[in-house]
Amino acid sequence: MAEKKPNETRRDFLKLATVAGGAALVATQARPLYAQASAATGGTFDYIVVGGGHNGLICAAYLAKAGFDVAVLEAKDIAGGNTTSEHMTGTSMIHEPCCNTPGGLYNSPAYHELELSEWGVNFTDISMLDGMVRLSQFFDGEILPMWVDPKQTAEEIARFSRRDAQTYLRLMDELQSGPDVGKFRQTPIGYGPSLAEICAAHPKGSTWMRLMRQRCVDSVNDYYENEYIRAWVLDYARGRQPVDDVGTGTGVGDMYGRQRRGNTTIIGGTGAIPQGLTRLLDSFDAPVLTKKFAVEVLVERGRATGVATADGDVYRARRGVVSSAHVQQLETMTPAGSLPETFTDNLRYWKPDILSMYSIMLDVKEPPLFNVHGDWRPGCGNTINTFESQLRTLADCRLGVVTPEGVGAKLIVQSLEDPTRCPDGGHAVRILTHYPYALADGGAVEWDRIKYDVAKQHLAEWQQYVKNLDEDNITAMYVQSPLDIEGRNINNVGGSCHGGSNYWAQDGEMRPVFGWASHRMPIEGLYLTGAGSHPGGSVNGLAGRNAAWVILDDEGKSIHRYLTRLAEA
Ligand SMILES: Cc1cc2nc3c(=O)[nH]c(=O)nc-3n(C[C@H](O)[C@H](O)[C@H](O)COP(=O)(O)OP(=O)(O)OC[C@H]3O[C@@H](n4cnc5c(N)ncnc54)[C@H](O)[C@@H]3O)c2cc1C
Repeated sequence: MAEKKPNETRRDFLKLATVAGGAALVATQARPLYAQASAATGGTFDYIVVGGGHNGLICAAYLAKAGFDVAVLEAKDIAGGNTTSEHMTGTSMIHEPCCNTPGGLYNSPAYHELELSEWGVNFTDISMLDGMVRLSQFFDGEILPMWVDPKQTAEEIARFSRRDAQTYLRLMDELQSGPDVGKFRQTPIGYGPSLAEICAAHPKGSTWMRLMRQRCVDSVNDYYENEYIRAWVLDYARGRQPVDDVGTGTGVGDMYGRQRRGNTTIIGGTGAIPQGLTRLLDSFDAPVLTKKFAVEVLVERGRATGVATADGDVYRARRGVVSSAHVQQLETMTPAGSLPETFTDNLRYWKPDILSMYSIMLDVKEPPLFNVHGDWRPGCGNTINTFESQLRTLADCRLGVVTPEGVGAKLIVQSLEDPTRCPDGGHAVRILTHYPYALADGGAVEWDRIKYDVAKQHLAEWQQYVKNLDEDNITAMYVQSPLDIEGRNINNVGGSCHGGSNYWAQDGEMRPVFGWASHRMPIEGLYLTGAGSHPGGSVNGLAGRNAAWVILDDEGKSIHRYLTRLAEA
């Protein structure tokens, strides 16, 4: 194939801005066309990784450990993407604008293989919670505390239904000893057994296959009998996918993660993840370069050979380019016509998450106090609507309607587990709920007008149950709407928290497009990692590890040596 001339790689930057948001436009408007720089002004590396979220950094770390020369280009002025910890309220307190409970990383092979604890990524201990994981508050005044000891939680459930209490303990065991479906997420597509094969090899596999194809609303009704308990279990299941979506049936077991690991936070804040990974990369002389917005993947003779950034620099890649940018950026970053039409056609239908997130961050002097059987005690809580109301608020969310109670609401105080977040004393509180990004009345921009009114409503709801959530105790407040979430990170298109919905048409072998789910993109030497690739969003580093697995395989490196036994390598 003839070498592409620079002017053949021109992109329509307005298109980029439409896909990726106004920030991209601002970054690119004043710049010349980058591919005109033929020499590598930024440097030459084996691999260039676009995007310094935790997945990009984890992928880079595996490649660096395997002996490759790697550089990470991050658009923002700090690495981390949705895993940063910041002084959101303008005080010394640390709050997380995005991910605050990265429980998935704790059990991820990436955490252990890369020995992240050695690099300062350490989890808090559930024993800090003083016995109570979370207090669930029903709107009629009933409560259901989840205790650190599952048997004690079951005793609370037994106040509503003895049978449900037994089911709770039985399911906890059964789900733990069930088929290892997590293996599917921890393996690149095409490299291991399918979910059906994993289940077929296990005596309880048929139950799992059913659950994985059911709707969570149905599996909750199938297993539990009491209306309070059904509402409670359903509330714990919301978060990633709406509970009435097909394929969410295993959500009936979502509360067990909370039961086992509490609110699972990282000492010092989630920002310790990118900080630790940057230090790890630094030990291999692999730079993480910030304020480097990648606008073009250079393609020569059909192969990805580098990246041009919005400031006019060009980074050459001897062996390949790995992108963790939002999947829809692939089309705008690559030369016109270099991606097959069927690939780009399918990508155009990529859907953001239906449930975005709305949060209120508070600095408080004293931790919030909940009434637990007459005893006021500090803790975290969630409000539980009836089963039917939860489905109604979900339907409203789909229609772009903001309901006062939101789609589930929780109040977490991570400084109870990790006091280092508040160096000058006090506590850091976060109130969270799910809301739509685009409002039926006024669209997404309407959030700027209503977000503080919504905050007032939420605080008023919580003040009914929490003793000291008042002006005397609150010293600072910051509110973040779904529109703000999009503005924080170019990957949070449409307020998405997970790089795009993980619904059935965008999950597993469908992520990002059927036929291209194994991280290899249609251009030779171009790989995809990040939340838009298998297994999707959340903080577990699996997309970064899976992509590294495929790249190392293409390099002829032994997976066994470089992934599962990195610590010994
Ligand atoms: C509000 C919120 C709350 C969340 N809470 C949780 C939680 O409690 N637990 C959990 O497990 N998950 C949570 N998540 C989800 C989780 O944070 C994300 O799924 C995960 O962080 C995605 O990681 P990533 O590395 O794939 O992408 P990102 O974190 O999005 O990082 C991508 C990076 O690439 C950069 N980038 C994009 N395009 C370019 C380009 N062209 N050039 C250079 N750089 C580029 C971006 O600036 C960004 O830094 C939450 C997300 C949000 C938004």
